Amino acid sequence: MLSVAEALVAILKETRVLPVERRSVAESLGAILAETTFSDVDSPPFTKALMDGYALRAEDCQTLPATLRVIEEIRAGRVPSLPVKTGEATRIMTGAPVPEGADTVVMVERTEAIPPTGVRIIGPIKKNQNILDRASEMKAGEAILAAGVRLSPQDLGLLAAIGYADVAVHAQPRVAVLSTGDEVVEAPAKPGPGQIRNSNGPMLMGQSSRAGATARYLGIARDQIEELKAKIEDGLNNSNVLILSGGVSAGKFDLVPDVLRDAGVVSHFHKVAMKPGKPLFFGTKESTLVFGLPGNPVSSFVAFELFIRPALAKQQGEREPGPRRVMLPIAADMQSDSDRPTYWPGRIEDSTSGFFVRALPYFGSADLRALHSANALLVLPPGPVAWRAGEAVPVIVLNT
Ligand code: AMP
Ligand code: MG
Repeated sequence: MLSVAEALVAILKETRVLPVERRSVAESLGAILAETTFSDVDSPPFTKALMDGYALRAEDCQTLPATLRVIEEIRAGRVPSLPVKTGEATRIMTGAPVPEGADTVVMVERTEAIPPTGVRIIGPIKKNQNILDRASEMKAGEAILAAGVRLSPQDLGLLAAIGYADVAVHAQPRVAVLSTGDEVVEAPAKPGPGQIRNSNGPMLMGQSSRAGATARYLGIARDQIEELKAKIEDGLNNSNVLILSGGVSAGKFDLVPDVLRDAGVVSHFHKVAMKPGKPLFFGTKESTLVFGLPGNPVSSFVAFELFIRPALAKQQGEREPGPRRVMLPIAADMQSDSDRPTYWPGRIEDSTSGFFVRALPYFGSADLRALHSANALLVLPPGPVAWRAGEAVPVIVLNT
């Protein structure tokens, strides 16, 4: 049986980075940049004042207070018309260009106006104070955001500042989601005897969107070859990833792996050493990835986070697609003894002494309610585990 790490390697080996397209900057939040972007401007574009006050020559203020002649007033958006000469000052507003000859801006609170055209500088002042030199943030021609960056809201603002209205980004993966099982019914229908509501459908749709994909919902297929076949063929059509839940274990009505093979899907593995989620199917049809997840909702959720999210990240051009693992002190003692690595719902919380992780009450792989407050998965290694409160333990941070 493959380990979790081996399974991820096998999946990423089959995962192709999607083609690049141009998209408007305003619509590129969360996309991965596929070009290096350069600024076409200096920033700031001119040497600018950082305070409301007076632009002057520091040498005129060696003895304080000093009285200077005010030669003009510049607001933001205007440009100075006169250089500042010995004995002179210009009234200036935050963000306005500093006139030639001036080397310092003294804030208005350290001055007294002498109407109509004078100012008394009380100080104290420091040469070069409250001035930001042209191009100190960035220079025209400088590379600013490199290919591979996942675009944040502030990145969109930065791209606009350096002159981009559209950018090259990797395409969003197209995902299709199919639930399977005779007993599965769609909300709001009340489950009859032996039935269960389809929680995996909406959950996997949501996880796919959160991971940057566009998701298409295929509904529920009964445990019946013809119906499965039709829905699987629909799902394979025009998708980068097909996700099925249920029907992949070794039960008599777990038909999914066989139907997938009949539909031309090449099987790469069908079991991973992990809990929950052992009977995980992974196959490909050309470049389309196919995941058959075990039907219990927590199994499906965990398998998505460990394997499908990284695959979607790689399709979008992410260079380090693997789940993010950190070490955090655990809130209370915890014991386990399992033959497989176990993923347990946890919550990272903040305290005055820093972050820690709490293992949540959890009743097993059908207990979706336990995941409601989870923002992390504790990773319990196989074999006997006896963690003491405060001990640093491995945790996967969920992108919730
Ligand atoms: P299976 O993987 O088909 O053997 O299903 C394992 C368990 O998960 C069974 O108890 C199913 O009833 C349950 N299950 C299967 N599909 C879903 C679903 N879409 N939503 C909630 N539970 C499900
Ligand atoms: Mg089933």
